[in-house]
Amino acid sequence: MNGQMMQLPLLISSLIVHAERHHPEQQVVSRRVEGDIHRSTYKAVAARSRRVANVLGSLGVKFGDRVATLAWNGYRHMELYFGVSGSGAVLHTVNPRLHPDQIVYIADHAEDQVMFFDLTFLPLIQAVAGRTKTVKHWVAMTDRAHMPADPKVPGLLCYEDLLDAASDTYGWPEFDENTASSLCYTSGTTGNPKGVLYSHRSTVLHTMAAALPDCLGVGAAETILPVVPMFHVNSWGIVYLAPMTGAKLVLPGAGLDGKSLYELFEGEGVTISAGVPTVWQGLLAYVDANKLKFSTMRKSAIGGSACPPAMIRKFLDEYGVRVIHAWGMTEMSPIGTAAAFKAQHVSQSAEQKLGVMATQGRAVYGVDMKIVGEDGAELPWDGQASGDLLVRGPWIIDSYFKNEGGHPLVKDAAGHGWFPTGDVAKVTPEGYMVITDRSKDVIKSGGEWIGSIDLENIAMAHPAVAMAACIAAPHPKWDERPLLVVVKKPGAELTREQLLTFYEGKIAKWWTPDDVVFVDAIPLGATGKMQKNKLREQFRGHRLPTA
Ligand code: AMP
Repeated sequence: MNGQMMQLPLLISSLIVHAERHHPEQQVVSRRVEGDIHRSTYKAVAARSRRVANVLGSLGVKFGDRVATLAWNGYRHMELYFGVSGSGAVLHTVNPRLHPDQIVYIADHAEDQVMFFDLTFLPLIQAVAGRTKTVKHWVAMTDRAHMPADPKVPGLLCYEDLLDAASDTYGWPEFDENTASSLCYTSGTTGNPKGVLYSHRSTVLHTMAAALPDCLGVGAAETILPVVPMFHVNSWGIVYLAPMTGAKLVLPGAGLDGKSLYELFEGEGVTISAGVPTVWQGLLAYVDANKLKFSTMRKSAIGGSACPPAMIRKFLDEYGVRVIHAWGMTEMSPIGTAAAFKAQHVSQSAEQKLGVMATQGRAVYGVDMKIVGEDGAELPWDGQASGDLLVRGPWIIDSYFKNEGGHPLVKDAAGHGWFPTGDVAKVTPEGYMVITDRSKDVIKSGGEWIGSIDLENIAMAHPAVAMAACIAAPHPKWDERPLLVVVKKPGAELTREQLLTFYEGKIAKWWTPDDVVFVDAIPLGATGKMQKNKLREQFRGHRLPTA
């Protein structure tokens, strides 16, 4: 027997429709790349999103087509979030920190039809425009007055011109909630970047969970500022969550330095913010140096990399801001766990509370997790045993876009699929997860991935290199930076500087290893694979020259 309730699909368009009806005058404030502060409302964002949907139709975008963005956090990007997904096309948010070769690769892989970009990224667009196979239209997200005189991008279109010419009358189509809504590529796995294809259903469910009190805890009286970029897992869902809850939304654009962020926090009365630890270091350094205080901020969600306990303590003791340490992945939309208290923690000492806040947190409803040993058997939650972390839930990946990399899920005895996160963790008896290591071969610098394999392949192409392994070395500012461990060919001459120069032009500059060490041998496992865990152990205390 079925329940007799309405069958309404969970669609992304419903979020902006809700905000327009129930929070029409709530503000959306953006720092523009043009330099000024722009003020909008949910009513205006909704109307302009409908114009975007009409523009897409006129550009020939069909249901299911991919539409790319290369853009900062701003209202135009937000309009694309709703206009593209809401009309049934797929929003592909491209990470502008990637090397142009990688951008060409993913644009081709995604078969992007249109690319919208902020003016900041014009040089990047000039580097890729002639090389992509499927992009038919390039659109600069600006008005006529700011259009570049000689853009060197054939047929470049102007966003505001397109919107002006389009009607704001548009009926959001109703379709299956399992339809693809958006696409994010992650380099957090080996090999080429892989696409994670979200659905309307997964996005709406994730947004509801993200708003829960023990997660980001957002309501209509809050003002939220996502520092985490809209090109990195949909800014952790905040651009959906704000219209769902009716919170005021503040979008920082390209101004991610301490001063610019602080001005927005204070000027707009921001109460909640979210970002990777590196950003907060810059902000705290600015606030410290200028002896400032936060007058409205209460909560700061920190994740993407481990948040140092010293940062949690500083935020709380000196500024009265509670850190919500959270963990997740692109493959998880991204939120998996958040470190909120249980009743028994409330009366504990400050030190004990810090211990709870410093964990990666408890599973949010919708996400189940377990840790397993090498034999795949589940390990106890005793705060001691550490094993591979597996997750499952309705906003967790089943397979990568175009089935790249085969089927990643691991089946349990009951036949349920679990996604192996590549993180190694332990879990306390109270259910708080603590990341202890990582089994995947990647380096996370300032919240962004650096592919170790790419760096090794380049080193291996040098005639003097016999074997190369790239591992993450600890770095005080960036959390991790690449360290290259190299075995030279017998009799070959090679210096650290020569090898580092060899990387020039082959990768994004910030991917270049911070250091090279020459060794006699790299430990190999039974199958001949380099044992990077042993290398990581060996170089745990290595001090990078940049540290
Ligand atoms: P991404 O897909 O770029 O969001 O990266 C996901 C990965 O970042 C996870 O698998 C972890 O390795 C790492 N990560 C995310 N949040 C945290 C955290 N709070 N503590 C430690 N590592 C984290």
